[in-house]
Amino acid sequence: MADRYLHLTGTAPGRFLTRRLGLPQPAPLRRWTLETPHLDGPLLHLTAGASAVTGVAEALRTSGLTVTERADRPAAIVLDATGVATAAGLGDVHAALHPVVRSLAPGGRIVVLGTVPSPDDHHQAAAQQALEGFVRSLGKEIGRGSTVQLVRIPVARIPGGASAHAAGSTLRFLLSPRSAYVSGQVIELTSAAPDSGSGSDPVADPAAPLTGRTALVTGAARGIGAAVASVLARDGARVIALDVPGAREELERTADRLGATALPLDITAPDAADRIAAAAPDGLGVLVHNAGITRDRRLANMPADRWASVIEVNLDSVLRTTDELLKAGTIPRGGRIVATASIAGIAGNTGQTNYAASKAGIIGLVRSLGPRAAADHGVTVNAVAPGFIETKMTAAVPLFIREAGRRMNSLSQGGLPVDVAEAVAWFAQPDSTAVNGQVLRVCGQSLLGA
Ligand code: NAD
Repeated sequence: MADRYLHLTGTAPGRFLTRRLGLPQPAPLRRWTLETPHLDGPLLHLTAGASAVTGVAEALRTSGLTVTERADRPAAIVLDATGVATAAGLGDVHAALHPVVRSLAPGGRIVVLGTVPSPDDHHQAAAQQALEGFVRSLGKEIGRGSTVQLVRIPVARIPGGASAHAAGSTLRFLLSPRSAYVSGQVIELTSAAPDSGSGSDPVADPAAPLTGRTALVTGAARGIGAAVASVLARDGARVIALDVPGAREELERTADRLGATALPLDITAPDAADRIAAAAPDGLGVLVHNAGITRDRRLANMPADRWASVIEVNLDSVLRTTDELLKAGTIPRGGRIVATASIAGIAGNTGQTNYAASKAGIIGLVRSLGPRAAADHGVTVNAVAPGFIETKMTAAVPLFIREAGRRMNSLSQGGLPVDVAEAVAWFAQPDSTAVNGQVLRVCGQSLLGA
């Protein structure tokens, strides 16, 4: 279902009328294309006070943008606020960004680099936590399709030992058109274990970083799953597209289009993990749990079978197959597991006690398993939490609820399946080892669950 309002505000009379009425002004978002893989302009690198980490300039260079300390119209601004450790130090954040924020090009990016709030130093913790409120507020007021995020670099075990080196893949994603529908997010990087597969080594072929890896995507016949399969194939992965046998025709069409292998299989089948392992005899470098269903009813009207089917597909099958595939060694060191939560799992939603429970469960799974999977298997575990994404599922939502879902976010529009897919691909990057146990909302900074 096309977003007609977005088209209307893209015309001169429509813009005039909607401005006069004080209505939202969504800016058309620029997504990644082969012809326009980068933002259009330089990257302004600023520092608030003294930096507490090394390697920021090197990490910024991986964005492919020209890094400068002075620019009239930057496409991106990165503020290194890692050294801000007192309330007074927050003045440096204001002093750095206040003079330049207006000069950011439309569709621009602001990334603030911070560190993890310290459990031992409440002044540092207050100052670093302050950055979160700052970033979320700036994301709400910046407009014109621009986005704002906070990336926390892990604290140093030895003074002066913290490095932004492992932030390369994250900055590459956030400072590019790939993150068009991600805003107001806080990403906390971990100190990546040195022996976890390809670690944070430079990617051999930046145009096809997943070359040589097999990726399996569940629920890949259509919607977000088909977009994930497509983006992972674009990035060089051999893709196995899984969906229920009932969707075989659509699945085969999608798989053919992508040069992927179709695997018709109900993910809740007792032997699902064995059949997945059999379909990937050389192991699975990337496992994406995307299949999901809704069976909405208010709790008072919800029969046990509607409750159980949602928990079974959205959560229990994810827990079971993940456990079995990790145990069997099907996911090698350097492997990536990405699950799909939802902002409903953060904010809750009327009529969705079952769905929100299943999606909140995914968040619990990722946060708990991430660190252990990294330690025991060299595998990362992360989740995307989509907001309002334009799919068949959301096209079926009644008009007024659909319009509210589209507009109630900082970008005043719904996202596209490719926006979720790009986030999954960032988690899947070989040099995303430091990205673990994270839940990234792809929701245009939705007011729900904010
Ligand atoms: P969709 O209904 O278009 O696609 C889901 C796919 O999963 C379908 O092809 C379906 O056949 C498959 N599937 C369902 N049960 C399965 C099973 N037991 N085994 C194998 N495959 C199965 O939905 P979508 O909008 O593309 O959503 C994809 C994921 O994103 C879901 O987990 C959904 O909960 C989540 N999500 C979507 C939105 C949104 O706005 N569209 C928002 C938040 C979260």
